[in-house]
Amino acid sequence: MTTTTFEKPAEQHTFEADVSRLLYMMVHSVYSDKDVFLRELISNAADACEKLRYEAIASPQLLPDDSPARILVSLSEEQNRLTVEDNGIGMSRVELIDALGTIARSGTRAFMERIEAAKASEGAELIGQFGVGFYSSFMVAERVDVVSRKAGTEEAWLWSSDGKGSYSIAEADLDQAPARGTRVILHLMDDARTYASKWTVERIIREQSGHVPVPIQISDKADAEPTSVTDGKALWTKSRNDITAEEYTDFYRGISGQYDDPALNVHFRAEGRHEYTALAFVPGSQPFDLFDPDRKGRMKLYVKRVFITDEAELLPRYLRFVRGIIDTADLPLNISREMIQESPILAAIRKGVTSRILSAMEKLAETDSEAFLKIWEAFGTVLKEGLYDDSERRAQLLSLSRFRTTASGDGYRSLADYARDIRDGQTAIYYLTGSNLAQIKDSPQIEGYRARGIEVLLLTDPVDSFWVQNAPDFEGKAFKSVTQGFADLDQIATADGKAPEKNADASAEVVAFIGFAKETLADEISDVRVSDRLTESASCLVASEHGLDRQLEKLLQGAGRLQTAEKPVLEINAEHFLVKAIAALDDDGFRKDSAWLLLDEARILDGDKPSNPRDFAGRLSRLFQRALPKSGE
Ligand code: ADP
Ligand code: MG
Repeated sequence: MTTTTFEKPAEQHTFEADVSRLLYMMVHSVYSDKDVFLRELISNAADACEKLRYEAIASPQLLPDDSPARILVSLSEEQNRLTVEDNGIGMSRVELIDALGTIARSGTRAFMERIEAAKASEGAELIGQFGVGFYSSFMVAERVDVVSRKAGTEEAWLWSSDGKGSYSIAEADLDQAPARGTRVILHLMDDARTYASKWTVERIIREQSGHVPVPIQISDKADAEPTSVTDGKALWTKSRNDITAEEYTDFYRGISGQYDDPALNVHFRAEGRHEYTALAFVPGSQPFDLFDPDRKGRMKLYVKRVFITDEAELLPRYLRFVRGIIDTADLPLNISREMIQESPILAAIRKGVTSRILSAMEKLAETDSEAFLKIWEAFGTVLKEGLYDDSERRAQLLSLSRFRTTASGDGYRSLADYARDIRDGQTAIYYLTGSNLAQIKDSPQIEGYRARGIEVLLLTDPVDSFWVQNAPDFEGKAFKSVTQGFADLDQIATADGKAPEKNADASAEVVAFIGFAKETLADEISDVRVSDRLTESASCLVASEHGLDRQLEKLLQGAGRLQTAEKPVLEINAEHFLVKAIAALDDDGFRKDSAWLLLDEARILDGDKPSNPRDFAGRLSRLFQRALPKSGE
């Protein structure tokens, strides 16, 4: 399969299986907004120009004529064809095969898994929401030719495909190829004719690529001078007052490849010790690879408007969802990528930008709490990683944090809300961790807190189990797990005004039963004691005063980081009718079964299994036998 313009022999290659699947989905989704393909091609062209500018700092011979970067879009209505050409870095034969025949980016893989899991209709939505790059050209083209000449080389290659499983690659004549860079030629489908029209294409470029930092020209006649559509002036160099909300949004979409509206933008110029400009956005929705362990930060670094890298960690990991750019004049243009991570200047800049982003969030939380909650719902889990990682900003992050609590209803509470409503005599901020909100809301461990109107934070993200260990306090109150140690509730009156009562003066019978249970359960339990945290349930499990919180213990065991778990403490509600009745039994076998059943019930309420399911079933049947009328009677 060769194309007519190029006569050298072509080799056939088949696409990697993932590419074929992606192409199939792309073409067969009835996606209404096909316009996105142009944004993708222009963004690749601009990346290629920026890469060349960067490479040329170290190797000036790559850019001998110092010709300015530009992107040219040419159209032919007669031939139903659209071409995007750049004078950027270009691709060698091997790079063409790697870049356009495989899917290297882990993000794309994750994206495809999401698409496949989604229903057909949602899949189409997803394509629009996330950039899917070069392959989107097959939504509008029946054949795509890519002619590329790598900067500084004397050969050019032609890649060509109909997007149906294979592509060909052949050497191209130098006089048919761009002098440097890449030309992507789309042979449009019949029903995609509109993309050969100057009017349509110019509109799309203005809408979607208006802030690409390389000038874009358009031409629809072979012999006429191309006209300029955008000037490639970097948006961030303008002052905030001269930029409209739409311009910010367009810029965000351009650099993020996301199609939503940003939830927040932070744009400032720092002067003084360090000089830099930052333009950063908090996205309006979660990117699909937010929790991919390989996900890097997504800030681009520029030095005096020259793109340097988008792989440096310019912000702390807990801000990895933030998109944008930092442009500084304080670094040398030829800074190596290795030096970037060590640079004290960048460390200072990173601090400055982090502060500004967090304070912009604080301000939003004050002025528009609803908008802030949207950010929190999308990125709170990630921000909370900072409570653990970044001791310097822990206080600031704590005050930004929002929680589900026993008092939050369907909404959220801040720690300031918590502190304002704290009960007299309450010395700690109480929390309960678990994996499921509905389940931990009804935990027996919080009954006594509820009865006293004490608010309990309900924490369900895995990271919660970790930061609570590190956070020293909030406004002088330490964080304390309700499943750990003594509940200290005897100092606080119940909500209905009853004086503090100490549950611990249990009847002699109950005290005796507790001693009995301690012996019976000695292999499973470190202690059995009277509880003051229970009001409705008969029993619950807690960790000992100095043990690990129970949920944290489970997480660590699950991750294989903890071999032996500590034995928990079984707490018993001395006022519970069941406990009183059991304590009064004089049948030791039945007392034994009851002690075990109280333990297993507590385990089940914790979302765990009974200690030994077989024994549990045996005890339960014996209990049924006692309760049910004997057969024949
Ligand atoms: P992404 O741009 O996110 O990497 P794409 O599918 O858009 O994904 O492009 C895949 C790769 O193809 C790019 O990373 C780049 O290496 C290469 N590429 C695409 N277009 C060009 C171009 N015009 N010039 C140089 N390389 C390109
Ligand atoms: Mg791309």
